[in-house]
Amino acid sequence: MSTLNTFSSHNPNDGAVLADYPNTSRNEVFATVDRARTASQQWQALSPRERKKVLLRWCALLTQEVERIAALIKEETGKPISDATLEATLAIGHLAWAAKNAEKVLGSQHRPSGLLMFNMSVSVEHVPLGVVGVIGPWNYPIFTPMGSISYALAAGNAVVFKPSEYTPGVGALLGELFQEVSPIPHLFTVVTGLPETGVALTESAVDKISFTGSTRTAKKVAASCATRMVPVVLECGGKDPVIVAADADLDLAAEYALWSAMSNAGQTCIGAERVYVLESVADAFIAKIKARAEKVHPGAQGSYGPATMPSQLGVIQSHIDDAASKGAHFLIGGTDSVKAPYVEPVIMLDVPENSTAITEETFGPTLAINRVASISEAISLANATRYGLAASVFSKRHGKEIARQLQCGMVSINSVIAFAAIASVPFGGVKDSGYGRIHGPEGLLEFTYARTIVKQLFKIPLVFTSFERTPFADKFIKAAVRLLHSKGLG
Ligand code: NAD
Repeated sequence: MSTLNTFSSHNPNDGAVLADYPNTSRNEVFATVDRARTASQQWQALSPRERKKVLLRWCALLTQEVERIAALIKEETGKPISDATLEATLAIGHLAWAAKNAEKVLGSQHRPSGLLMFNMSVSVEHVPLGVVGVIGPWNYPIFTPMGSISYALAAGNAVVFKPSEYTPGVGALLGELFQEVSPIPHLFTVVTGLPETGVALTESAVDKISFTGSTRTAKKVAASCATRMVPVVLECGGKDPVIVAADADLDLAAEYALWSAMSNAGQTCIGAERVYVLESVADAFIAKIKARAEKVHPGAQGSYGPATMPSQLGVIQSHIDDAASKGAHFLIGGTDSVKAPYVEPVIMLDVPENSTAITEETFGPTLAINRVASISEAISLANATRYGLAASVFSKRHGKEIARQLQCGMVSINSVIAFAAIASVPFGGVKDSGYGRIHGPEGLLEFTYARTIVKQLFKIPLVFTSFERTPFADKFIKAAVRLLHSKGLG
């Protein structure tokens, strides 16, 4: 950190300083939110079609600049350029979907008024909230926050974005490129800074906070917002299980589970951390994943990069040590696999269910594989942690049946992580993995509130909402309710 009012970003490969960014103060955050409020009113005054045009222009500009964005993601996170490019393109895909679908999803809806209110015309509108504060993590510095930013803007809000202090450059570039296409100043502003800048955003006059990060921070964000009744979306950590059934395609399961666990150095909230494999196919699955894992190595030119946040190395080491001390066996790697800033792949077998490698988010290139006697045992162990973000199931015939019993927000069958790339479906978790949804129609609705408008078309002799209500009206209500709702008792 070079001066009080700036902080530095670093290359996680060698710790070299990349650039300095403003450490935005509380007062500046508050002033930014005030400016965003004026911008949100101007944005809402545009027609949905005009808003769509602006967002699609941003989409085209991001596409034109995708190589520059990917290079910056690589520089700040250490991930391979191919992963960085994929991440940026997926984020652009979400922006395009949100822009193109907002009008249809959020348009005013007519609803039936029911027998007693047949003289009413009823509609529901989805109203933008105003200013949405987005707080982002570093592991997918464009994909993750854009899941909130794109959908909040498309729904008619202004956005103030606080990127992670580990990836401020990606955030700043997003903001810079938006200014090039925006007809309205301060509609999307990036406030770089340390965690205190995030705290200030939660205490500002925002109308909603969409937070992505650790469960520990999410609880602080929710508590801060609760004091002013500011609603929150919380996208937090996971301990995602993979279930490998007896009828699984084992090559596919080994290939995908390995990638899900190790890619991006295991720093994927929806990445595999645990595998429950049916005893009858366990030896074959374990042999297949071992053969593949032996070819995977980290490094500047490796399959994946360093730990982006150096302090995570201690957490990864402690989970490996805890598993080892409780009797886990090592298929790949061991207690000496953490070699800062990299972590070699670690695959553990027979990991006690009470070890932190099973109960806590490791966020490193580690995988615990445990054998189970039945699918019901796999399901109950998969559901046993306090997380509930995503899961994968490998089974040729029973995938959906298993998926439906998992307590989590997203399940891939015979694939991994695919849902994140499909813009039309909601993304989010349950339990300690958070609440609220980004992506898809649910992600657009998340950044609006419903306003019901009921209009009396004509007056009828039977009035209910007046002191003129008659005994006949009372009788009529009773009779109507009996007629409509008493059949259930047979
Ligand atoms: P983090 O919780 O440390 O920080 C996230 C952001 O919150 C940063 O911008 C940080 O500056 C800010 N912050 C810190 N303290 C704050 C406070 N008290 N008030 C407001 N803001 C504050 O998380 P991280 O290390 O950046 O990200 C990794 C975590 O994010 C992992 O747990 C991962 O699973 C999770 N994650 C979840 C998803 C998802 O969609 N569910 C996606 C990506 C990452």
